Formats: sequence, structure tokens, C-alpha cells
Amino acid sequence: MAITREGRICSFCGEPGGPGTDLRLLGGLGAQVCATCVDDFHAILHDEEAVAAASGPFPWERMDDAEVLATLPRILASAEQNISFAHEWVDLLRSRSISWAEIGRALGVSRQAAWERFSRRAADKGATA
Ligand SMILES: [Zn+2]
Repeated sequence: MAITREGRICSFCGEPGGPGTDLRLLGGLGAQVCATCVDDFHAILHDEEAVAAASGPFPWERMDDAEVLATLPRILASAEQNISFAHEWVDLLRSRSISWAEIGRALGVSRQAAWERFSRRAADKGATA
């Protein structure tokens, strides 16, 4: 299965984007960023007062409990997106006939541990090489 931007969310604001939406996403290593967040971060990084403000207390220190609670599902959605991307990446490696031993070596774990963590396709369930 090809890796796509379909159904992805911005890892920074949690907004859904990608194909079929107005929100363009760019990313790498599983994290995605929307144009709005890029613009906002760019504006902050080029404004010394904004940099100073952003370097102060963490945003959650100013949030009330309801805001902190409301943020939790967005954090988990971003984390799950990254885990899903790792699985897609392993699928990519497997489609290139990279062995479970090589994947395990890259992760610093055994072939068996890599297979147990990432095998999910029916074709891979019987292939431990
Ligand atoms: Zn965003």
C-alpha cells in the first residue's frame, strides 16, 4: 500500500487536511504541518517579541482544566498518526523485500520483535524472513 496524505491531520493544530480538503499538509517522519501553522511559526520566528513570548511559559500552563482535557484527544490523534506512519513505513520496507532481520537491526531489536510489532498484512503473517 502506498503512503499517502489521505486522512492526515496537522500534527501541530490537529486540523484534518490533505487530499479532498482545503488544508495543505507537508511533513516527514510521520509529522504533518499545515500551511497555517507554518505561517504562524514563521511569523513568530521572525518577530523578536513573539519569540520572547513563545519562549516563556508553556501554553498549557495558561490553559484551564477544560482546555487541557480538550487537547488530549488531539495529542492522541497525532501520536496515533505517527505510529500508523511507522507501520506504513515498515510496509514500504517489506514491499522492497527488506527482511525482518534488517528492520529489526535498524530498530535495535530482534527480527522476532520487529515482526511482532509491525507485521499486520496477511502476506507477512507467514513470512518471518
Ligand atoms: Zn496546523
